[in-house]
Amino acid sequence: MKTVHALPLLLLPILTAFHDGGPRVRARSAAPIAAAPDSFIWQTDQFADVRILRYQVPGWEQLSLQQKQLAYYLNMAGLAGRDILWDQNHRHNLQVRRALERILREHKGDRTGAEWTDFLTYAKQVFFSNGIHHHYSNDKHEPAFSRGYFEALLKGCGATLPAEVLTTMFDPAVAAKKVSLEAGKDLVQASAVNFYGPGVTQAEVEAFYAAREKQDDPAMPLAHGLNSRIVRGADGRLQEQVYKVGGLYGPALEESVKWLEKAAAVAENPQQRKAIDVLIQYYRTGDLRTWDDFNIAWVRDTTNSVDFILGFVEVYNDPLGKRGSYESIVEVNDPEATRNMLAIQRNAQWFEDNSPLMPEHKKRNVVGITYRFINTAGESGDAAPSTPVGVNLPNANWIRAAHGSKSVSLGNISEAYEKSAGSSTLEVFCHDAEEIARAKAHGALAGKLHTALHEVVGHASGQLEPGVGETDQTLKSYASTLEEGRADLVALYFIMDPKLVELGVMPSLEVGMAEYDGYLRNGLLVQLRRIKPGKDIEEAHMRNRMWVSAWVVEKGLKEGVVAKVVRDGATYYDIRDYQKLRTLFGELLREVQRIKSQGDHEAGKALVETYGVKVDPAVHAEVLKRAERIRTAPYAGFIQPQMVPVLDASGGITDVKLEFPDDFVKQMLHFGEKHSFLPDVN
Ligand code: ZN
Repeated sequence: MKTVHALPLLLLPILTAFHDGGPRVRARSAAPIAAAPDSFIWQTDQFADVRILRYQVPGWEQLSLQQKQLAYYLNMAGLAGRDILWDQNHRHNLQVRRALERILREHKGDRTGAEWTDFLTYAKQVFFSNGIHHHYSNDKHEPAFSRGYFEALLKGCGATLPAEVLTTMFDPAVAAKKVSLEAGKDLVQASAVNFYGPGVTQAEVEAFYAAREKQDDPAMPLAHGLNSRIVRGADGRLQEQVYKVGGLYGPALEESVKWLEKAAAVAENPQQRKAIDVLIQYYRTGDLRTWDDFNIAWVRDTTNSVDFILGFVEVYNDPLGKRGSYESIVEVNDPEATRNMLAIQRNAQWFEDNSPLMPEHKKRNVVGITYRFINTAGESGDAAPSTPVGVNLPNANWIRAAHGSKSVSLGNISEAYEKSAGSSTLEVFCHDAEEIARAKAHGALAGKLHTALHEVVGHASGQLEPGVGETDQTLKSYASTLEEGRADLVALYFIMDPKLVELGVMPSLEVGMAEYDGYLRNGLLVQLRRIKPGKDIEEAHMRNRMWVSAWVVEKGLKEGVVAKVVRDGATYYDIRDYQKLRTLFGELLREVQRIKSQGDHEAGKALVETYGVKVDPAVHAEVLKRAERIRTAPYAGFIQPQMVPVLDASGGITDVKLEFPDDFVKQMLHFGEKHSFLPDVN
């Protein structure tokens, strides 16, 4: 499970105010490049609804040569699979990308004027989202230039694209939605994502996996479908095309294995080496039991300084929540920040015992939660350019219960957001000066604690009732948003607990109050600026922030806990009783845990559909209008640092230097040239 940046540009601008000296972030000026006090350039570009940022990697220079080599090899293994995500996202993506790359490299004609600018913006959007669909809304990008112009550009480079690909790019009706979660539709047919072959239906897929799931050992069910595409075979029956060496995406995985073998040779400890070896085996066989073995080996490796996330992991891009998108994250431990969070980790059982869950849904023994602040040193696939700020893995509940899980916060990513953000969101959306002041004083810490509690305590808490299956089987398309909402609710419940003050992780309950202000403000108002007029909320995390907020506000309005204030045509939510609001969060948490523990699909569906999908068109229009006063784009993603090995005369690595490229398109072209191993059509 991943946490995406919850409150874009909302709380973070404030931090920059505490850094003395040097130029401030110039997000409000016309200049696209913002300089931080230390002169590192955090933001390099802004286009469409996206900002391009860079991050630093504190702790890199403290790594040993062996650890740097390990990070380098893991990063190369990760980049080797970059094409996979493109093909997973849509079957024409690699062709489109290569056409864009070719034009950007070879176009001899005019590189000015409106059509070229529109072309360049489209190319950047496609690079940013690893394909022709928006990374967050899942809507297809609309080229603002004509098909004729594009075809002329192609021709000028001696290139062509099949008519079907061009139609997919330019006809808004074709492949309109990457992932559709619209209730009542055949989600497989309504989604353009390349996880399912032509003509395959949702009912068929569900029957296919129901048969397999029946054969599982209930104590250790397999993640069926995680690493394959499913198509109709010549005999008319469904069959899986497994991602493995020698199978689908074989050339990329083979290249990845090459680098993983080098990584295994410089692993920090035997447990880590074992994990990498098992991952190699999994890439070779595609065997899902081996994937489980990998996760168990990986979760046990808790003492390293360099860690990684690799493979087909998160299932958000599959409308049925089974198939994993390719991703890689190379992590460098941040020991200092981690120490601060140890207090929460050590008290995991206290949180479980003191949660508002029904007794039968509480874990007797919360197992093996590890939590770290890490700095990422390289990301690719589904983790780049848009990145999570927190990750909790593995996803299989039975492994989490039996062997534990690892949670990380990506500290340097949060830092880059903080250092680069603009400053007007609070002024536009806070109810009063007190709320602004509280956000300024405590918002940043509140955000960090929310992430820590969400990942460490939230996802690890609670248990299923005996005989209830994995949530993707019981709660189906609602599983992701219900799980994310559940983890948020755990965080919200405890961030107002005096225990956190007692543990010394926050100075006062004011931090919790800042979090409550910010959560409702974002869930009900600010996040709507990411949605186009007339659209529903689709993305799992956005949905949960909405249904959590809308549910407590509906109750809270009646009981005087929250007031809805309309001033000069603008809507604000003002919390009047924070302790009572906490009780409401607790009530909802108890109910959501019950839904999960009992696999109550109907109740889960009703909760999400009632509170988390539909947007009040009047409030939506109002938010979009107010948001015009905010200058910075609502999404951000990153240029990756470049790891450059320093070689001696015999080709041995003597150091690995980090360079920080500042040209997004150049990096995309570089990746397309050096880290591309799949044919156009797979
Ligand atoms: Zn989560």
